[in-house]
Amino acid sequence: MRQYFIDRKININETFNFNEKQSHHIKNVLRMKTGDIIRVVDISNNVFLVEIKVDLNVSAKVLENIADFSNESEIIYCAALIKKDKWDFLLQKAAELGATKVVPLITSRTNFKVDEERMDKRVERWNKITLEACQQSNRSSKCEVERPIKLKEIDRYLSENNIVAFENEENSYLFDLIDNKSITFVIGPEGGFSQEEIDYLLVLGFSCVSLGKRILRAETAGLYVLSVIDAKRNSL
Ligand code: SAM
Repeated sequence: MRQYFIDRKININETFNFNEKQSHHIKNVLRMKTGDIIRVVDISNNVFLVEIKVDLNVSAKVLENIADFSNESEIIYCAALIKKDKWDFLLQKAAELGATKVVPLITSRTNFKVDEERMDKRVERWNKITLEACQQSNRSSKCEVERPIKLKEIDRYLSENNIVAFENEENSYLFDLIDNKSITFVIGPEGGFSQEEIDYLLVLGFSCVSLGKRILRAETAGLYVLSVIDAKRNSL
């Protein structure tokens, strides 16, 4: 069933209008008709069934609340920036696999030119990629992409559990550290983290984890972590 995100709170029996883009999609791309039922997720992560009315624009009446994910614990993926095509892939897959936030990181070995003038447009495009992935995968919460930060600023994104994937770690495995608490995890760039950066994260309370014996590419490492979080949480 198709799903859309609405940027406000909605209630049962209320009627609301879809925005222009959503209306166009429902009416002209999906060719849905008055009376069809779709899912809508409101700003509080409540999921509703709504009955649409197709007119010049598309409106809908809220029928029932089918789920409430407002208490879902956060998964913050702090990812060192990588090349554009791989970055776009990373964002799409991170949204599909359940990240609630992606924080682009600038580290000492990141090859990324920060162009402040173009940054708003970039962040907007990144959020469009994750929004489409969330809608397509029927997720009930959004995956927000933040503006890039320097590693030093990562203390703004601490969770209950904080981990950094570090290929030199030999004893601590990711699977053992996952529970239902909120989590922030950090993945380095292709060149990895410097020892100073790892030391800084340890001081902030991060735990180093191994992702196994193989060295994974940066984007693979992040998607591996998200898959393990999902698998472990589903088994608890
Ligand atoms: N520069 C490193 C090297 O050549 O050995 C590899 C960096 S790896 C391509 C990019 C990032 O993925 C790392 O900074 C780390 O966060 C994560 N990563 C990849 N494989 C990992 C593993 N086996 N254990 C823990 N982290 C890993």
